[in-house]
Amino acid sequence: MKFGGTSVGSVNSILNLKGIVESAASNEQVIVVVSALGGITDKLIRTANMAVNGDNAFNKEFQEIVTRHHELISAIIPDNARCSDLLQEVDMLLNELNNIYQGLALINNLTPKSEATIVSYGERISSRIVTALIDGAARFNARNFIKTETKHGKYILADEKTDRLIHQHFDNTKEQVIVVPGFIAQDKENDEITNLGRGGSDYTAAILAATLKADCLEIWTDVDGFMTADPRVINNAYTIGHLSYVEATELCNFGAKVVYPPTIYPVFKANIPIKIKNTFNPDADGTVIDDHSEDEGRLIKGISSINDTDLLTVQGLGMVGVVGVNQRIFRALADANISVFLVAQASSENSTSLGLRHVDAEKACEVLNKEFEKEISMGLMESVRATSELSTVAIVGENMRHNAGIIGKLFQTLGRNGINVIACAQGGQETNISFVIKSELLRKTLNVIHDSFFLSEYKVLNLFICGIGTVGSSLIEQIASQKEKLKKEHGLKLNIVGIANSRHAIFDREGLDLTNYRTALSESKECDIKRLRDEIIHMNIFNPVFVDCTANGEVASLYADLLSHNINVVAANKIAASSDYGTYSTLKHIARQRNIKFLFETNVGAGLPIINTINDLINSGDKILKIEAVLSGTLNFIFNVLSKDVPLSEAVRLAQEKGYSEPDPRIDLCGKDVIRKLVILAREAGYSIEQGDVEANLFIPQELFDGSIENFWAKLPQLDARFEEERQQLAAEKKHWRFIARYENGKGSVSLSKVDDRHPFYHLEGSNNIVLLTTERYKEYPMLIQGYGAGASVTAAGVFADIMRIANI
Ligand code: ADP
Ligand code: ASP
Ligand code: MG
Repeated sequence: MKFGGTSVGSVNSILNLKGIVESAASNEQVIVVVSALGGITDKLIRTANMAVNGDNAFNKEFQEIVTRHHELISAIIPDNARCSDLLQEVDMLLNELNNIYQGLALINNLTPKSEATIVSYGERISSRIVTALIDGAARFNARNFIKTETKHGKYILADEKTDRLIHQHFDNTKEQVIVVPGFIAQDKENDEITNLGRGGSDYTAAILAATLKADCLEIWTDVDGFMTADPRVINNAYTIGHLSYVEATELCNFGAKVVYPPTIYPVFKANIPIKIKNTFNPDADGTVIDDHSEDEGRLIKGISSINDTDLLTVQGLGMVGVVGVNQRIFRALADANISVFLVAQASSENSTSLGLRHVDAEKACEVLNKEFEKEISMGLMESVRATSELSTVAIVGENMRHNAGIIGKLFQTLGRNGINVIACAQGGQETNISFVIKSELLRKTLNVIHDSFFLSEYKVLNLFICGIGTVGSSLIEQIASQKEKLKKEHGLKLNIVGIANSRHAIFDREGLDLTNYRTALSESKECDIKRLRDEIIHMNIFNPVFVDCTANGEVASLYADLLSHNINVVAANKIAASSDYGTYSTLKHIARQRNIKFLFETNVGAGLPIINTINDLINSGDKILKIEAVLSGTLNFIFNVLSKDVPLSEAVRLAQEKGYSEPDPRIDLCGKDVIRKLVILAREAGYSIEQGDVEANLFIPQELFDGSIENFWAKLPQLDARFEEERQQLAAEKKHWRFIARYENGKGSVSLSKVDDRHPFYHLEGSNNIVLLTTERYKEYPMLIQGYGAGASVTAAGVFADIMRIANI
């Protein structure tokens, strides 16, 4: 049982450890391998560096190390005698350590040897504390049996000697609990203290388990098990129940810190299962790693990454077909003790790319430029340079083997999110696909992959909502109230990561609190359109959707830029789709090219499925011949509500009060709103048309539209008498007014028409909209779509539906 730094780091955790070990030891022999108290190894190294660099604060740092151990001991060992024995022992070690630090401060030189000695104190002390804590436990000194030798300046395990010594020390022991300090070791030839590398306690435990043929190796840490991705980067990473040795090796070799990579091999060879368990939650199942692979129905098991990658490319046309270039590359690098973890060579053979750690990059370039000096000077090859600030990501799983389409899915997901793959590699074993990207895209990359391979329990969309007028605020309310249901029933998490109004904006990549966003917004700093754009783009979040609930032209002008950054756009705002045809088609083109969405269903008929229906008809080969429609909920409401008691001016005011009209009702009355909608429908039906091409027959004199809005409200009542007169006449003829938009044979028009009771538009109640589509398939009996055509909540619901459409791709 190996307990990591976090498991011995605090009073609570170490008491848990005691409970876990004592309960296991009640019916079997256990070896407990412990790390230093969490964070102590780093602190020991930092203090040493401060001492050699003449920073006197090292004394204070050292004192903190002392206090940390003292406090832990007095809190967990209540028995006075035992406590003071332990304190004495520990203080002796701490004194030695202090002497070393004081010496370092004088000689100003930190050798690897003294660093190895210094870090050993962490485990030497922690193992004494744990031994004192557990009843009947004995402490064995790891230096007596974990032996290393030095190769290329690194300590590596001297396995034969270690094997022999472990048997010597353990074979006949009767102790029920033996505590061993992890990580530390000793040189096989002399007394020098060495270690197994950072994170090496896992390895100590694996070596003991394998050599002594333990039933199981348990790694106790601070998470519930091996997770699908680094939980510090992916909020919804979750525990993997089972991994094969191969999968676990692939994942930890590639940065999954939970297990130190060399740990797996010895236990794999001895076929001993590994369990990863949580000291803070011992009842959780944890992860089992053993020799079989389990099909849990998922294509991949986990994702890991290394973020300090450099990519070196050896290239030149002179390399094509030349035998032995790769052999020279790898020999030169091996001689310099540089390890390469990703290799990509195209079949044309004119370039080979190598992924390696940033620390090795400079040396690697030097070595390769020397190796190929002659070819470079003759111009056959280019000199080798490193590209930095890259990350390597690996997706891992035995299910990927012989499964077609995984790379396709991977690259499609990355492409849709604007993530460019710089190099990639998949070995013939097909259990790992690795690729290199820019480091700034790492978080986003891990998130999108996690999301799209259904590793996440739910899919996430990250929303920026712009505009919190009637539609925007209704949308936020609907999202807030549907959130839990969507998560549970649809596996979808809608995360609102930004909210903006015309002056302010708030952002939080973890999701904004929707209960008090208005206050937060008013207290936030001013935000103009440029900052809004920059914040959204720089957040660089995965699965982003920009939702425009404004009626603002400046906001609409952001779409092209946002779409070009792979941000989906859902617009209730009609300006973009109805502006000049060039803009409209460019936006559609960018979205199509980038495999993302630009949706605006609510531009026409609020929540009614008009645009989607037209799209479906066209996509299935139909042709739209004619469109006739009442597209203004506002105007329909106005003409329906007109009566002896409600004159025109009053009807307009009512339409505004009920939230049917545009914020400025003149946009409805002058027909502009209907023209915009007709233009959008005609374009979606496949016709190229501009607003100016639509013939507008107005029913309100132009002069009312020219002045200020106040002027409009002041003059409107002047029309009341004329409209009342006409209304009475119309009632006598048993006809209704309808403001009808038409498109046929390349011509569009809008006009106030009088329809009798045989016309399908006659019975159109309230603010409803109606659209009559005559198509090649629906010719004799045109298709009719009818229903609420205005109102904040139906519009918001339509926007919501567009968002859901993006979630479902
Ligand atoms: P210990 O001190 O117990 O050795 P480590 O810090 O070495 O603990 O390893 C555990 C940590 O590894 C977790 O707290 C987690 O943040 C991190 N980690 C990174 N990748 C993964 C992963 N795929 N699964 C689980 N934990 C991971
Ligand atoms: N204490 C050592 C380290 O921090 C070893 C370990 O924790 O496994 O690297
Ligand atoms: Mg560890």
